[in-house]
Amino acid sequence: MHYLDNAATTRTIEPAAKKAAEIMTERFGNPSAMHKLGLEAANELSLARERVKSALGAGGGEIMFTSGGTESINTAISGAAHKYGRQKRKIISTEIEHAATLETLKALENQGFTVILVKPDKKGNVNAGEILKNAEDACLVTMMAINNETGAVLPFEEVREGLKSMRSPALLHLDAVQAFMKTEKPLVSSGADLISVSGHKIGGVKGAGALYTAEGIRIPPILYGGGQEKGLRSGTEALPAIAALGEACRFRQERLHGDLKTLRELNAYAREKLKEIPGLIINSPDDASAHILNFSLPGARSEVLMRVLQQREVYVSSGSACSRGHRSHVLAAMRLDPALIDSAIRVSFCPENTLRDIDELRAGLFEGVKLFTR
Ligand code: PLP
Repeated sequence: MHYLDNAATTRTIEPAAKKAAEIMTERFGNPSAMHKLGLEAANELSLARERVKSALGAGGGEIMFTSGGTESINTAISGAAHKYGRQKRKIISTEIEHAATLETLKALENQGFTVILVKPDKKGNVNAGEILKNAEDACLVTMMAINNETGAVLPFEEVREGLKSMRSPALLHLDAVQAFMKTEKPLVSSGADLISVSGHKIGGVKGAGALYTAEGIRIPPILYGGGQEKGLRSGTEALPAIAALGEACRFRQERLHGDLKTLRELNAYAREKLKEIPGLIINSPDDASAHILNFSLPGARSEVLMRVLQQREVYVSSGSACSRGHRSHVLAAMRLDPALIDSAIRVSFCPENTLRDIDELRAGLFEGVKLFTR
């Protein structure tokens, strides 16, 4: 199998799967229970929290566990939006955000918030100045760190600096679901107030994510109940998935430097090999994150290409997995030609991929091109 859809989700890495199984069958207590099993579970929860904190590079601040990226993003945006009550009701974001952000913003718009979405350029890059020019009286700037469809790296550090120098009261939330464990610099060093991450994109188990809140940042919960996670996220913790997230953080952090080098090598090799496919156009910016590469074969259709690739057990995506069947809003925001959008393929690597996976991709694409040029 040649799995090249790691931005959609990853295979759970062995140690994380083992950890989840161990929690489910042995240390299965409720972390709030007062007996020995409960205590063991609470210790696992603390260990996972420390591991996520360390992977994010956080000294202080809090890590709250959620069910995944979507919940972290919903909590961060809804919470931050209400920080200033009715005084400040302007939110700045971008047109290339994930649906978890765009749909939360739509709901806030319906509640009377003003939402400004900044457009990317033709390469999918977002200009920090465009975000900052409206941010003076905003309550929140929410942006991705790395785009899930093109791998474009957004200028979040520049935005943080800009907000600081203009003394904007706006909080900065980073959707770091695609950036987590994919950057040399720890994400907390960006100075963001809130950071959302997800376990299943880094070799964890589906069903656990985290929201980092910087020191002094308090946001209201969206779930009420037993008061778990310091009252921020009630509900019995999904410990198997949370502990697997912690384990994936430990595993990835130990290998980070080498893994990023591998991803860069895979990306460079793929760009080189894809040049050989007649008519192929790369949509990702040249300086995109190495784990995501988006390209088009104008004249072809992505669903057909995907089927041809699937016959060789090469798994890719025609855009983002979350927007099945819909034209990519990211590529549309980049104002790409419809022929490019309809033939777009996203491949996304994990450090366990090999050059053979890319050779197979190349062979499958050659086969696919023939179907459309007969
Ligand atoms: N944000 C980005 C950039 C993503 O790529 C995804 C998932 O594809 C999400 C948010 C949602 O994360 P989850 O699937 O953990 O809810």
